[in-house]
Amino acid sequence: MREDPLLGSNPVHLEPGYGIAAVTCRLPAWRLQPAAAQAFYQAAIRCHDQAWRGTLSHFGLTLTSPHLWAGAQGRQYGGACGRNDTGREAFYCAADQTIVMPFDSMRSIARYGSGYALAVVSHEYGHHIQQQVGVMAAFQARAQTVGYSSQAGQLLSRQLELQAWCFSGMFYGTSTGRGSITRSLSRQAYDNNSHGGDRRGELRMHGTNQNAANWFGWGRHPSLDPSARVHPSIYECNPWAARDAGWLE
Ligand SMILES: [Zn+2]
Repeated sequence: MREDPLLGSNPVHLEPGYGIAAVTCRLPAWRLQPAAAQAFYQAAIRCHDQAWRGTLSHFGLTLTSPHLWAGAQGRQYGGACGRNDTGREAFYCAADQTIVMPFDSMRSIARYGSGYALAVVSHEYGHHIQQQVGVMAAFQARAQTVGYSSQAGQLLSRQLELQAWCFSGMFYGTSTGRGSITRSLSRQAYDNNSHGGDRRGELRMHGTNQNAANWFGWGRHPSLDPSARVHPSIYECNPWAARDAGWLE
């Protein structure tokens, strides 16, 4: 931790109880169609901006909204990351701060409903926050040193991913029950994320399905007691200071 100024001991992780703003998020009608999906994602990004802006400014940072690329076909994407080599339906490109959600690859998730699509935007937005606060750059520097696909590199990647789910959970934990963010959407996000972990044949870059769900759930409500009166905080979303190594698998 001490030799880790930009990951686990990044200042944003060190203030117990400090969270994000509750927002009344208004999302346009969902349709499984490229332009409608793009408008929906863009509105969801604005809601996340609203939730996080004050938090970043509390830490002396000015939030910049991420760009969105949500073209009809992934092969049309030509942003700074070149192409989608993640094998995933969507990804975050830190190099140009863009959430990339091609309609064709997202279809397999989005066909289940708006809550599933929203869960993906929200996760990718978590990576944007990591970029904004310096965690992403620290991750990249460290992973480059140890090798992205080494055991140490895979653990770092899981920590990064699990934190993105936790940050997403914070959004649902503070804004569910307001505007368009219904309990049903929050349940759909949990369900989506509980299938978001490492898949057969992949490196261990994301964490198990169980841990994807665990960290999302912990971000939403950081207590083992479902009835505890707790509220989401960044402090509880720090996989570099995890209390249980099992949660990093
Ligand atoms: Zn991710």
